[in-house]
Amino acid sequence: MIRNDTIAAISTPAGRGGVAMIRISGRDAADIASRCFLPKNGQNFADLPARRAVFGDILCRSTEGAEPLRDSGIAVFYKGPASFTGEDTAELCCHGGTLVQRRALEWALRCGARLAEPGEFSRRALMNGKLSLCEAEALSDLLSAKTDAQLRIAEGGADGRLDRELSDIYSALADTLASLYAKIDFPDEDLADLDAEALLAAAQKAQERVTRLAAGYENTAAIREGIPAVICGLPNTGKSSLYNALAGEELAIVTGEAGTTRDILSSELSCGKVLLRLSDTAGVRETAAEAESIGVCRALGAMERASLILLVFDGSRPLCAEDEALARRASAAPGVLIPVLNKSDLPALLSASDLAALCGTEPSVLSAATGAGVADLRARIENLFLLGQENIDAEPLLCSGRQYSAALRAAEHLSAAVSALETGLPPDCAASDLELALGDLGELDGRAVDEEIVARIFANFCVGK
Ligand code: GDP
Repeated sequence: MIRNDTIAAISTPAGRGGVAMIRISGRDAADIASRCFLPKNGQNFADLPARRAVFGDILCRSTEGAEPLRDSGIAVFYKGPASFTGEDTAELCCHGGTLVQRRALEWALRCGARLAEPGEFSRRALMNGKLSLCEAEALSDLLSAKTDAQLRIAEGGADGRLDRELSDIYSALADTLASLYAKIDFPDEDLADLDAEALLAAAQKAQERVTRLAAGYENTAAIREGIPAVICGLPNTGKSSLYNALAGEELAIVTGEAGTTRDILSSELSCGKVLLRLSDTAGVRETAAEAESIGVCRALGAMERASLILLVFDGSRPLCAEDEALARRASAAPGVLIPVLNKSDLPALLSASDLAALCGTEPSVLSAATGAGVADLRARIENLFLLGQENIDAEPLLCSGRQYSAALRAAEHLSAAVSALETGLPPDCAASDLELALGDLGELDGRAVDEEIVARIFANFCVGK
């Protein structure tokens, strides 16, 4: 249920920090804030100019008596609609001790505010037209971005680029439909200048733009969700060394002793724009040791599930039968295989061409110990999975599964309309599909979206956002 009372929450992360911010938003924000914050100049907070930082005392609930404790800090008042939520909003910045911020919030609640629900500030911003649904989804991605590329996609959604594209497609299609209905309703009058050719062109154009958006979403999966990748090979080929070299830190133990890695180690790292969800695995060999043999089974299982297999060979040793067996197994697995010819700093006893012949693809030659060739491997991985989606800064990109499925539905209805028009059926045969596509586009850009879906989107936000 949507309420319009006054809410408060700590908007900075939980825990100890330099500063913590308590946000109060709603019709009584000024009144509540004036009971939580006493400006040093003696004025009433509610009478101070808006959007100006003011120094004063922030009141905090005391457990010992009715009289509040005091912290000093800064407050800013935003008069609605010129605020994030569109409502009157006060932001009180106190010291970031865990207790002081909690007590300051408790005082605000005692003064009449209600504790905000997760995402409630953003939801109010949506209700008050300060934020579109796509911008809200992008904001959620922005907060959880782990790589620069994820951040850039989220920024594209948050700065209105996606909204502009969606609203453009929507308006063009709505205009086309309006002309079409005018023609259907008043066939004898020259009301709308829309012949069959123009109608087909308009439907094709909309289909092309929506399909492009859906393709952009598919092609950026490696950036948004990451690629499950695994490092496999025989013991002592340098798997853990490669894992550390790619991660840029010493995460896995490296020794000359076979059987050191048993459990699968995993971490997320970026190869350029691509996010790699990389696992280091136990060296594959026959072993009587129970823990190690479980590790080997897990390594082989991880290889079967991965989208990318980095199969490591020790270039300072000739190929052995176990290398060959593992290469056959990796080639048959569903993931993309990159053979890695490691230890290029040592005299070579295994050639790149022999390894290419064995694996059916050129190896990446490198030294995990010195780092030579590791950047090339990163670039190779990025090129492999980026799927031509280099231009994430300029293209409008969808950023949620909800948007993607609405785009797919719209593309399907547009494609049905285009097919009907291409086969020469009368224009009104395309009207219902165009109408359905318009509904999908309305869902996509959030103008016609279910209340329950909105609630689900904001439930993923943290309290205070
Ligand atoms: P793993 O068992 O396959 O994980 O291999 P490790 O990463 O633990 O390395 C096994 C041994 O090979 C260690 O002594 C490493 O120092 C050494 N090693 C790994 N990579 C290289 C490399 O590129 N060059 C050289 N010279 N030694 C390496």
